[in-house]
Amino acid sequence: MEGIRQSISFADRHIGPNPDEVGQMLEVLGLKDLDALVDKTVPQTIRLKGSLQLPEPKSEYAAIALLKEIASKNQVFRSFIGMGYHDCITPPVIQRNILENPGWYTAYTPYQAEIAQGRLEALLNFQTMIIDLTGLEIANASLLDEATAAAEAMTMSYGICKNKANAFFVSKDCHPQTIEVVQTRAIPLGIDVIVGDFQTFDFQQPVFGVLLQYPASDGTIYDYRSFVEKAHAVGALVTVAADPLSLTLLTPPGEFGADIAVGSTQRFGIPLGYGGPHAAYFATKEEYKRQVPGRIVGVSKDSQGNPALRLALQTREQHIRRDKATSNICTAQVLLAVMAGMYAVYHGPAGLRNIAENIHNLTVLLAEGLKRLGYTIGSENYFDTLCVELGDRNLKEILQRCQARQINLRIDTTIGITLDETTTLSDVIDLLEIFALSDSLPFTVEELAPKSNSPLSRTSNYLTHPVFNRYHSETELLRYMHRLQAKDLSLTTSMIPLGSCTMKLNATSEMLPVTWSEFGKIHPFAPQSQTRGYQVLFQQLEEWLAEITGFAGISLQPNAGSQGEYAGLLVIRQYHQSRGETHRNICLIPQSAHGTNPASAVMCGMKVVPVNCDTQGNVDLDDLKAKAEKHKSELAALMVTYPSTHGVFEEPIREICDVIHANGGQVYMDGANMNAQVGLCRPGDFGADVCHLNLHKTFCIPHGGGGPGMGPIGVAPHLVPFLPGHSVVQMDANNPKSMGAVSAAPWGSASILTISWMYIAMMGGAGLTDATKVAILNANYIARRLESYYPVLYKGKAGLVAHECILDLRSLKKSAGIEVDDIAKRLMDYGFHAPTVSWPVAGTMMVEPTESESKEELDRFCDAMISIRQEIEEIELGKVDAQDNVLKNAPHTAESLITSEWNHPYSREQAAYPAPWTREHKFWPAVGRIDNAFGDRNLVCSCLPMEAYSQG
Ligand SMILES: *Cc1c(COP(=O)(O)O)cnc(C)c1O
Repeated sequence: MEGIRQSISFADRHIGPNPDEVGQMLEVLGLKDLDALVDKTVPQTIRLKGSLQLPEPKSEYAAIALLKEIASKNQVFRSFIGMGYHDCITPPVIQRNILENPGWYTAYTPYQAEIAQGRLEALLNFQTMIIDLTGLEIANASLLDEATAAAEAMTMSYGICKNKANAFFVSKDCHPQTIEVVQTRAIPLGIDVIVGDFQTFDFQQPVFGVLLQYPASDGTIYDYRSFVEKAHAVGALVTVAADPLSLTLLTPPGEFGADIAVGSTQRFGIPLGYGGPHAAYFATKEEYKRQVPGRIVGVSKDSQGNPALRLALQTREQHIRRDKATSNICTAQVLLAVMAGMYAVYHGPAGLRNIAENIHNLTVLLAEGLKRLGYTIGSENYFDTLCVELGDRNLKEILQRCQARQINLRIDTTIGITLDETTTLSDVIDLLEIFALSDSLPFTVEELAPKSNSPLSRTSNYLTHPVFNRYHSETELLRYMHRLQAKDLSLTTSMIPLGSCTMKLNATSEMLPVTWSEFGKIHPFAPQSQTRGYQVLFQQLEEWLAEITGFAGISLQPNAGSQGEYAGLLVIRQYHQSRGETHRNICLIPQSAHGTNPASAVMCGMKVVPVNCDTQGNVDLDDLKAKAEKHKSELAALMVTYPSTHGVFEEPIREICDVIHANGGQVYMDGANMNAQVGLCRPGDFGADVCHLNLHKTFCIPHGGGGPGMGPIGVAPHLVPFLPGHSVVQMDANNPKSMGAVSAAPWGSASILTISWMYIAMMGGAGLTDATKVAILNANYIARRLESYYPVLYKGKAGLVAHECILDLRSLKKSAGIEVDDIAKRLMDYGFHAPTVSWPVAGTMMVEPTESESKEELDRFCDAMISIRQEIEEIELGKVDAQDNVLKNAPHTAESLITSEWNHPYSREQAAYPAPWTREHKFWPAVGRIDNAFGDRNLVCSCLPMEAYSQG
């Protein structure tokens, strides 16, 4: 309409460079327009004909309004379902200042520890909390959910146990989703899962481990001591899945002999979110520290001798151990672990105990009332969960009364009721009125004098460290959280150009819906009549992702890229089995692959055969052909990343896929690099059978400092019947051929799917395609600006890269004694986070700017890299000392510069203000260079006594 002008689109906000800047960058590359760039980088043979068929892009305002409408189709009932999920109160100070704060949620996994001390400290608090509550010696910094944590405990026990058994006992009293995920994991490894009654199991069949639930899924608190002794007597390891809140009152697993404890910290202030994201925990004994899955934060010291934190025992992890790895976990649940740890900091030991006691007392009250009403309660010993036997009462009538009061209970052969932090006395009255089948009770609740009933009262202290006892006023906590945040470099400071990790904009509009109660306060096992909004969200997102990837079916269940790999390979495994080809178990994986690839293959019971790369970094086609043919009869799959991990669109990708198919295999594509493909080509069109998408890379879910993430998979039509299902919840994927569940919740971390939905809804097909083009442009611009200073290792046919480029720094070692790490640390003095270091090629840096960075920011980064190259040249020319120089001593802390004596041959200004922008805004590294080896020799993974910080 005339007079009404189109306002600036969301795509223009998301994409960093404006049209003028795009023009300038194209000019530097000698190209006429973006299409010319795409024509030269993406092989013609795989280009998408036409454009993505997605809804028209919406403005931020309109998309929010539309999603609000969808959200309103969800009905928020009070859920007393339990089963490992509890409503809880997110302290508003934590919600606003962590969950909704880009200073926390846009940070990356803390590999560059000197500029990540804040979240490392928060994670150390989390580990300390878990160690204290479980009574075990060490804990990791989170896993994905309780069910996969239990499965990790099973495989760890399998590796450790010496009794040669291959059976794992799982108590039937575990949560059903946990049992299911453990079973899924066991099958490809040939582990026999025995689900049974721990009270009658006699260990006649040898087992390498056992899994118990504490309190049990129906609420009963069992005394497991004699069972644990029997398990240990046959050499089996004992894993206890425990509710951490109950452990404030109950004897912790470590004190009754458990070797491993796992569980979910969801009820420590994390919204239900229809299944996630939540942080699971994993704790064990010190002697098993090298077998622990996931990341462990440990204490070490920096170059000044001050305590400093970093990720410990890295050589355990899949990226180092590859096919020797016992776990593929990479992205975990850092942001949620930070929140859960802060919840403990906020409440302290007395506060947590108080919450637990309130819940327990209300539960006792409820039990007394139910008994007066003539009901039988399943057990005498419980914490927060009752199982109620109905006797001759009519279930239908009770359900109708629940419906009228908008209450959900756990309906099974008995009825389960689980209370939580949000439960009030009036909720208890509501529940009693439901079971009384009358709106007036024959007694008052005051008459029901609660008496405590726990046979296993905890006597040991917990959370005694000052950090859990000094920040209980909001002012103190706010400042503590802000202090930690200020130590961390996130996207709020500067670009984080991590190759393969796609640290793009996480727009505020995308983040807003995450904390809406219509999405947050829904139990994962709530009836689907209450989750219509979520069903619409899933259906639309699945359709859009299918269109973007060219696949027929999508599963939103896997909680990270690694889990997508695992699920995708299981789909392939099921497919072969369905055709009677059970012997197909060889997985070809190029040498350049991400460490999760071989680790996932091994978890699926496959044998990894590496494929060489040629001098151009491409898959060596001859080697691939030779190996595919050699293993023709056992070939299960190829795992391939596209564009390659070397940042190039390999020309013969179609041929690569054909070779695999011709030899009976399936093609698994690692979709971590999807940001280079969206709108330009589709894996489903050029030969891939399965592909995972990292929604926390390409589709804007923030990395959260190392999680959450989402790793849905797309599959070709012939693989759709094999997608993951779920035993608790009715979903389309449930069918006889389905592999079962790979996550605790049917749609994984459902609440953060809103972020990717918003992104796609606001970008539309054309916007997404433009984003891809600019991502490729930005990478090529950096490559062009830097290539005369640092050689660009691999390029495509036309001398161009895809959406990332590898800078070769290896010659600097010889010429100046400079290692890639020295440059990474020196970048901190310039206010930048280093690119990906030494992967996929040792001694290099892989730079991925993404489309969200403006030309100005790209130039600043390039200027920093060029300036560092000049600093190195001074060493090469012998003008400055080879040891005592700005690179070797980087990063420079304020403390190290503000000393009365200064003995270095360079000035303090050179150290701290190497570029003009650092004077305008200086990001100070919190600690000097960290000594990794020291910390691994002296492993400490819980909070240090305060004295440690005062020495200096
Ligand atoms: C990030 C990444 C993965 C793993 O994804 P997570 O979500 O961390 O498990 C796998 N492959 C490649 C190439 C990646 O970049």
